[in-house]
Amino acid sequence: MKELYIYNSISGKKEKFQPIQDGHVGMYVCGPTVYSNVHLGNVRTFMSFDLVFRYLKHLDYKVRYVRNITDAGHLENDADEGEDRIAKKAKLEKIEPMEVVQRYTVDFHQILNKFNFLPPSIEPTATGHIIEQIEMIKEIIKNDFAYEVNGSIYFDVLKFNSKNKYGKLSKRNIEDLIHNTRSLDGQSDKKNPQDFALWKKADSQHIMRWPSPWGDGFPGWHLECTAMSTKYLGKRFDIHGGGMDLKFPHHECEIAQSEACHGNNPVNIWMHANMLTLNGQKMAKSTGNYILPNDFFTGNSDHLTKKYSASVVRFFILQAHYRSVLDFSNNALLASEKGYNKLMDSINSLPNLVTHKESSGFDLELWIKDCYKAMNDDFNSPILIAELFSVVKFINQVKDGLAKISANDLKSLIHYINIFVFDILGLKNDIDEGTEFEGKLKETVDLLINMRAEARLNKDFDLSDKIRDRLTEIGIQLKDEKGGTTFSIEKL
Ligand code: AMP
Ligand code: ZN
Repeated sequence: MKELYIYNSISGKKEKFQPIQDGHVGMYVCGPTVYSNVHLGNVRTFMSFDLVFRYLKHLDYKVRYVRNITDAGHLENDADEGEDRIAKKAKLEKIEPMEVVQRYTVDFHQILNKFNFLPPSIEPTATGHIIEQIEMIKEIIKNDFAYEVNGSIYFDVLKFNSKNKYGKLSKRNIEDLIHNTRSLDGQSDKKNPQDFALWKKADSQHIMRWPSPWGDGFPGWHLECTAMSTKYLGKRFDIHGGGMDLKFPHHECEIAQSEACHGNNPVNIWMHANMLTLNGQKMAKSTGNYILPNDFFTGNSDHLTKKYSASVVRFFILQAHYRSVLDFSNNALLASEKGYNKLMDSINSLPNLVTHKESSGFDLELWIKDCYKAMNDDFNSPILIAELFSVVKFINQVKDGLAKISANDLKSLIHYINIFVFDILGLKNDIDEGTEFEGKLKETVDLLINMRAEARLNKDFDLSDKIRDRLTEIGIQLKDEKGGTTFSIEKL
């Protein structure tokens, strides 16, 4: 029942999961570059790994989940030249780079909390590990896979490829890479265009700088992940994850750095989460094609017709398998909301079900097995959700007297629903909160409408106007119609 298979991007196959150390799992996931608010695409990738983390924990593994914060070294266009993304934003806003880092790290955590993410075990930062990165560069230079030019250090991809193989993960071969990369324009210090920076010399304008044996500078983006994963998970660990777009060059470079430094492939299983698209295009900050998580909570977006709860958005994302592309649309979200409400209504009705001596019309044991089967098959959340709807159908049949459930089975069903819906999928049962609150709000406004009508009957127009005006001030509009007074509430 608990044999887990995971799709390994490097082998292109689902492989039986065998941790390096019995009972323990080391997992590293590339975190955000904290220079702007995370969009829903970023959230999707991190949610995929939240699901993985939750399921591994459920299987009783002791998981050390490391997800970094990139707060230096990530340049524009993922390149080796250009401005640091964080420093650029700091200049634009006339604040310190570390203020940018703080603002967007806090935003990232708040958003993830709203979506009910479990915090990782360790959340290290690139700037907190400059020494480790410098030590790693020294080792790579010692092993003759890197060279210094004018205060910068570059990884020598051609030399590495002559001894090891570069391109294992992304399945690119070096000849194609050479053919496809633009030749150097004379501005670069690199020997070859495929080489990538391990350390960059900081020019006098560059604010984010640290001393090193090669002068003041800053680390290359790929290096931080190798330094931090090695420090907290060792030279070889179980799972490395990230979005599909990080496969090349970021993850390919991580493999090369580890092999050049430690002489071994760092990762057993590479997991890549697929992209969230909007209008068929990858959601991305740079193109303006994105939705921010907060837009869902307010409903203020051209892409949305109303607001949605975080649980509905989470449910929408988990209805797709993490390796499939998911296209966002308001209609798809509306359908997810319907599904989510149906599921929660059904779960909320469980304690009131009438039980019988014996169950009939449903094989509970088989259902539990099928739920595990879905999750053990590369974390297949859409199939798990389909299984949950087969339970909803059964519950409806029990209510209609077409099927029966025993008290014992009901207890067991509630237990497993808690495991699959709340522990593993990480959904929250917030349907009650929403409807109850909205119901109470409606009752309160109706009460005020009635008091206003009474005041008007008594010709107390001061009071009736006051009620209407005060409600308008707080964003509740009254409308007097033939059949009575109705109200509308401004979008928050
Ligand atoms: P970044 O902060 O740009 O490094 O991105 C953080 C994470 O979000 C990375 O793992 C990216 O692969 C992932 N990501 C970026 N855009 C999308 C998208 N449209 N859909 C899913 N994941 C994304
Ligand atoms: Zn990384």
